[in-house]
Amino acid sequence: MRIYNEKHIPVLLEEVLKHLIWKDDGIYVDCTAGEGGHTRAIAERNDKISVLGLDVDSEVLEIAEKRLSHLNNVKLFKASYIELPVVLKTLSINRVSGVLVDLGVSTYQLKGEGRGFSFSKDEPLDMRMNLEQKKTASDVVNNYSEDELSRIIFEFGEEKRFARRIAKSIVSHRPINTTYELVEAIKKALPIGELRRRKRHFATKTFQAIRIEVNSELKNLKTFLNLVPEYLEPQGRIAIISFHSLEDRIVKNHFKEDKRLSSLAGPIVPGREELSVNPRARSAKLRVAERR
Ligand code: SAM
Repeated sequence: MRIYNEKHIPVLLEEVLKHLIWKDDGIYVDCTAGEGGHTRAIAERNDKISVLGLDVDSEVLEIAEKRLSHLNNVKLFKASYIELPVVLKTLSINRVSGVLVDLGVSTYQLKGEGRGFSFSKDEPLDMRMNLEQKKTASDVVNNYSEDELSRIIFEFGEEKRFARRIAKSIVSHRPINTTYELVEAIKKALPIGELRRRKRHFATKTFQAIRIEVNSELKNLKTFLNLVPEYLEPQGRIAIISFHSLEDRIVKNHFKEDKRLSSLAGPIVPGREELSVNPRARSAKLRVAERR
């Protein structure tokens, strides 16, 4: 286990419990179990409830396993949420009462050592959530063409004005081996006025774009939204917490357009009290839909 002294605080926890759990003896799937914050709260709600926790990150799952070892109604699986059908099949479960997806990065991934998600620490360019996956941030940064980089920084980073300049600078600084070297290449692409104007760190958008690309985050979310209604019992719930407008737009539109679902709640955002103890929840939005 890498050095890690923080604890992930589950986002919008009360709101998730209120909208997701509608059946006292249901089976619920926490599709992004992470450090087990939501999983634990769902399982502790009632011992007749069963919770299946999925995550692609074996290191994060190790933490969850330790934290949840006292709970008999939780089972954890190293699997992507798009593999939900396979997991259910191995357990001979046809349909579940609810699924939760808490998108984004866990505190362990961000603050733990050596994962390369954060621009505030100098680390190798990795950013993989699934450590068995081949493609890393280094592959994207060092091997993608300038056009491809520009497109993902524009689309996934919503870096509307400077995507091309940042891509050009990245290409001209190759090879880029660490997060700090990447930060430097991004900085060189931005005019001084722009660097001063930005409220958030100037590398935030580009790092987000590369992370989304490395982990196929938007593609996975779309695949999941299409497959999941078939695995929900009637009135079964789907709750999704997103952290940026690209994800939220996909969820919002899907809930509107999928005839198998009806939108129940959202966007629900954290209140002032939650933000005071967990500023990471700042951009979270929860949407909930029900299987017709
Ligand atoms: N809800 C968790 C808690 O309270 O501890 C935190 C979840 S964290 C924000 C998001 C988690 O989703 C990360 O641990 C990440 O590894 C996982 N993840 C990302 N993509 C995934 C995928 N396709 N399938 C399963 N888990 C995924």
